[in-house]
Order: sequence, then C-alpha cells, then structure tokens
Amino acid sequence: MIELREALQILEQTPQHPVSEVVPVAHALGRVLAEDVVSAIEMPPFDKAAMDGYAIHSQDPAAEWEVTGVVAAGAAPGARIEPGQAIRIMTGAPMPIGADQVVIREVSEERQGRVRFSSRDGEHNVCLRGEDLRPGDRVLARGARLGPAASAAAAAVGRDTLSVYRVPRVGVVVTGTEIVPPGETLQPGQIYDSNSASIQAQLRQMGIETVLSSRVTDDRDEIRAALRDALAELDLVILSGGVSMGDFDYVPGVLDSLGVRLHFTQVAIKPGKPTVFGSSTSGFVFGLPGNPVSTFVVFEVMVKPFIYRMMGHSYHPRMITAPMAETWRRSKVRRTAFLPALLRNDRVSVPEYHGSAHVFALLEADCLLEVPAGVGEIRAEETVRVRLLGS
Ligand code: AMP
Ligand code: MG
Repeated sequence: MIELREALQILEQTPQHPVSEVVPVAHALGRVLAEDVVSAIEMPPFDKAAMDGYAIHSQDPAAEWEVTGVVAAGAAPGARIEPGQAIRIMTGAPMPIGADQVVIREVSEERQGRVRFSSRDGEHNVCLRGEDLRPGDRVLARGARLGPAASAAAAAVGRDTLSVYRVPRVGVVVTGTEIVPPGETLQPGQIYDSNSASIQAQLRQMGIETVLSSRVTDDRDEIRAALRDALAELDLVILSGGVSMGDFDYVPGVLDSLGVRLHFTQVAIKPGKPTVFGSSTSGFVFGLPGNPVSTFVVFEVMVKPFIYRMMGHSYHPRMITAPMAETWRRSKVRRTAFLPALLRNDRVSVPEYHGSAHVFALLEADCLLEVPAGVGEIRAEETVRVRLLGS
C-alpha cells in the first residue's frame, strides 16, 4: 500500500503528450487552450464614449454649448469640437478631437441647437484607447480551461478559432455479476449499477462524453475480452469493481495478463484503498473499487486531475477553509479519509454517512472533508480545509 501523496505523485509524473486541434471559439467552452492568445490590437482601439450624452472639453467654462453634430457608434474617428461646442454622442462612438468628457443625456437639455447641463459630476465617461489591452498583451495562457469569460476575451481580440487540446477518448467498464442496469427489475441478490451513471456524469462535468460504456460479470474471460477491446480503442479505461481481495476480483490479474503495467494497486485512502492504476502501450487504466462513494471520491481525488493532465491542464480543486460545526472522531487513522461534507452557515458538517456503499450521503454533500492519515479527531470550531465539489 502506498500513501495517497505517492499515488498522486505517480499520476502527476506520468508523461502526457496532449495533441492539439483547432476549434471555433463557439465550441471552445470547457476545453483546454493549447496556445497563448496574444492581442494584436489595442482595447479599446480608440477613445470611446462610455455613455450616451454630449462630448465636450471638461475644462470648457461655457454655460451653454453649441451642438455641432451627432456621432453614432460605428462612425470613423475624426469629428472635432472647438471651445464652446459640443457633439451629441452615443455609447461606443469615437470621441471627437478636442473633447475629453461625455456629459450624460439625463442631465442635458438641448434646445434649438444649444445644450445646457443641469449638473456636471467629475465622471469623464470615456474609455481611453488601450486602457484595457495593448498589442502584445497575453489575454489567455496555454493550459487554461476555457470558461464563458475566456470565449468573450478571445472574441474581443478578434479570434474566431482557438487551438485547444484534444479531449481524450474515455470509456467506462463496470464489473459485477450482481450489477443490473437501471430500468430492469431487480432479482434477489442484485443491485442497480449507479457507478456508470456517476462516472459518466463526472466526466461530462469535465466536458467529456463517454465513448464506450459496458458491463461485465465477474468472469475472468469476459473481463479480459472487454478490457482488451477497450484498451485498444481508448486513451483511458475507467473500471469499477473487481479490484479488491475477493475470490472473484479478477481485474488486477487480468490487467497484468494483458500487458498493462500496474503502477499501484493499493493506496492509503478511505474510501478507495484497492484503487489500481496502470498503463499500456496504447493508454491508461484506472480500476476503482465498486462501492459508489469510493468510485465517486477516487474519481474526484485521483482520476479527475489525471484526465485534466491528459488534456494539458493542471487541475487544482477549489479549496476553502472553514470551522467544523461539530466534533468528529474515528478510531482507525492509518489512511487519509475523504468524507462527504456540507457547508452550512460557513461551517463544515458531516452528514449521516454509513460508509462507502451509502451513495445517498453524497446527495447533500457540496464538499469533501480530507482527514489526513494519523488524525483521529477534529474538534468543533477547529479550522479545516474542504474541497468543493462540482468544479
Ligand atoms: P467490488 O469493488 O466489486 O468488490 O464491489 C464493492 C461493492 O460495490 C459491492 O457491494 C458491489 O455490489 C458494489 N458495486 C460494485 N459495482 C457497482 C456499481 N456499478 N454500482 C453500484 N454498486 C456497485
Ligand atoms: Mg464486484
């Protein structure tokens, strides 16, 4: 058994060679950028009115201004004013030469070609050329995961396509003779497959559609055939079940027989101790213990950062610190524990949790509480760090 820290280190040091492709900005949401996006332009590209109103010179002592024209958004820069003159201007229009302020429409009264202002605050209401961005400024960095704001930024500097890393082809294979797809009727001794649903949903949250999803019984040959095909076709196979010490837990042996190099087969994490990670010539395999909370937690803690690395992104879960709502204790302290937890009134509490089969405990959870190996008690009001879920 290795420590969680070592397992994470192995995953982090596994070389990755993500391949890039070019996609329209509109399809880049959730993807990882394979280039630095550098602006070729100034933003804004010209001094720009920030409000609808009248462009004047702020130091002009006049009490009433002659309105010499109108500038709309889209007009070429070049209009000009002299002292005592104003130009009616629209938001987004280029500022006239000689003007440095837009007095808003709301305080203006224009009559017979002349305008007066009932009040003038200090606001200039001008976006200055180049104040947001200069040519050569880096707008987005390689390795960034693209959110809506990144799409806007790329578009704002004129990019219609972006180079992003290819999404890995990921498949899910669940093992277990007792496992039945939802929708069917349960026979005695059977339980529904919830892991296919949770793993696929966790992948989808990362922007990955599962390309293969299969289910096999605890039969060595069946597992072998399914794994051989999946490994040949996919960049990553995520297995659930069949990795523990039971008579019918064939996964590690089958992986070995298929020439998969196993980098670890046991990690000091609770839940999730029998987690297996291996690599073959064509791709990678995770074998996750079948209990639904184990599958979920190990995906969050180990699989997710690994897949992001396959995509060229270095993932850091969002962590926050908060005091514990109540005292929590455990008797066995050997492994790093992850508990479904929730934040209420800025405090962390651990909901009723019956162990790693208790999938419903995850429903309330909005974070995972990490309890380091060796720690057996966390007192009420003690500050803890929790990992937020869903990011
Ligand atoms: P295993 O890791 O195969 O020893 O399974 C551990 C426990 O998780 C057993 O009680 C299984 O029935 C249960 N389990 C395994 N696979 C699934 C699955 N896909 N969905 C829900 N529970 C599962
Ligand atoms: Mg099993």
